[in-house]
Amino acid sequence: MLGVLALAVLLVLATDRFYGHSSIAFAAAIIMLIVANAPMLRFNCPKCGKNAFFRGPLVVPWPNRTCTRCGTDLDQVPSQNR
Ligand SMILES: [Zn+2]
Repeated sequence: MLGVLALAVLLVLATDRFYGHSSIAFAAAIIMLIVANAPMLRFNCPKCGKNAFFRGPLVVPWPNRTCTRCGTDLDQVPSQNR
């Protein structure tokens, strides 16, 4: 995730530097971020289904250790994403 994010940022910066402002680079970066976030958005609490990356109205780039809704310890729950 962080590698893809860094790659996307570098891609935008490099294209911006060499070719000027490019919407193509931004579109590519956005697509890469969506692809990178696809497994992240499936990381839900197995009990109540709340996404582990949401903390109230905020989205954080790392998952909660415990579900913010029902308190399930997500570290102890086997997940297909690990
Ligand atoms: Zn929960």
